[in-house]
Amino acid sequence: MKAIVSNERKGYNNYGTFLKDKYNGQKVYKIIVDAGFSCPNRDGSKGFGGCTYCNTDSFTPELSRKLPSLTQQVLQGIERAQKSYKAERFIVYFQPNTNTYGSVAYLKKCYDEALAAAPDLIVGLSVGTRPDCLDPETIALLESYCDRLNVDVEMGMESMYDATLQQINRGCSHQEFLQAVEWFADSPIDLCIHTVFGFPGETVEMMLQYIHEMNQFPQIKFVKFHHLHIVEGSILGVHYKRNPFPLFTLEEYTDLLCQLIPLLRPDIVIQRLFGISDWDLLIAPHWGLKKTLIQNFMDKEISRRAIVQGALYSLV
Ligand code: SF4
Repeated sequence: MKAIVSNERKGYNNYGTFLKDKYNGQKVYKIIVDAGFSCPNRDGSKGFGGCTYCNTDSFTPELSRKLPSLTQQVLQGIERAQKSYKAERFIVYFQPNTNTYGSVAYLKKCYDEALAAAPDLIVGLSVGTRPDCLDPETIALLESYCDRLNVDVEMGMESMYDATLQQINRGCSHQEFLQAVEWFADSPIDLCIHTVFGFPGETVEMMLQYIHEMNQFPQIKFVKFHHLHIVEGSILGVHYKRNPFPLFTLEEYTDLLCQLIPLLRPDIVIQRLFGISDWDLLIAPHWGLKKTLIQNFMDKEISRRAIVQGALYSLV
C-alpha cells in the first residue's frame, strides 16, 4: 500500500480532516453519553478494581453523569455543541465504562433511545468497549444500524503483551483481543483501536510492534494513541505515589510518535495522538501545557521532521 496521506496540512491522517471530507465540510461533533453501564473488570465478573490505570471520572465529563436520561443527554449535548462549536451533525458516543456489557435487548434499548433523540441530526454511533464484551450477536446488533448511520466500535488493545496486560489487571488477554478483531472482518462497522504507550517494562521497540500488529487488519479504520498517565482514584496512582517510575516526557513521547507514524498503514485515521485527564485528577506526567498546546507541539515537531504516515509501511 502506497504512503498517501489525504490530509495536506499534517503528516498523518487526522480525524478532524477525515470528518470534514466524509461529511462534505459540515461540522460533526461527538456527543458523549453515559448509559450507566458497568465494567466486568470492575464489578467482579472478570475482576475487581478495574485496570490499574483506570478511574472512569478521569475521562467522563461530569455533566453527562448527572443527566437522567439518554434522550436528555443527547439533546443537551447537541445544544451545547451547536452553541459552542457551531456543530451541525452529531455522532452519539457511548464512552464511559463498557458499552456492550449487557443483554442484546438492553443494549438495543439504550442505543435506540439515544439515536431517537435527534434522528435528523445524528449521523453516527460510536461505542466504546473491551474485547471480552463482544460477540457475534452484539456485533450483529451494531451492524443493524449501519444502513442509516456510520457505526464504529472503539476497543481497547492497550498493550499487545500479556505480561503487561496481567500487570495492569486488564482481565483480558491479547488472544481475546485478536478474536474480537476477527469478528469484524467483512463487517460494515469501522473498528477503532485504543492503545496506551509507556507501560513499565515495555521498550520503544516493543511499542513500535503495536503498529505492525494493527496494520495486519483491514477492518481497523481508526486508532487512538495515548501515553500512560497516572490519575487520582486509580490503583496505579496509589503505587506511583509510593514508588514513582519513569513516564514519558512530552519530548520523548513526541519522538515515539515520530517513529511510529511512518510505520502506520496509510489509510488508518488517527483519532487521537495523546490523551490526558483533567489537571485536578492528573498525578503525572505534568507536561505543563493545555491540550491544544500539546497538540500544537506534536504537530509542529511532526511537520519539522517531515514525518509522513505510512512512509515506512511498505518496508514492514
Ligand atoms: S479501563 Fe475500561 S475496561 Fe478497564 S476497568 Fe476501566 S472501564 Fe473497565
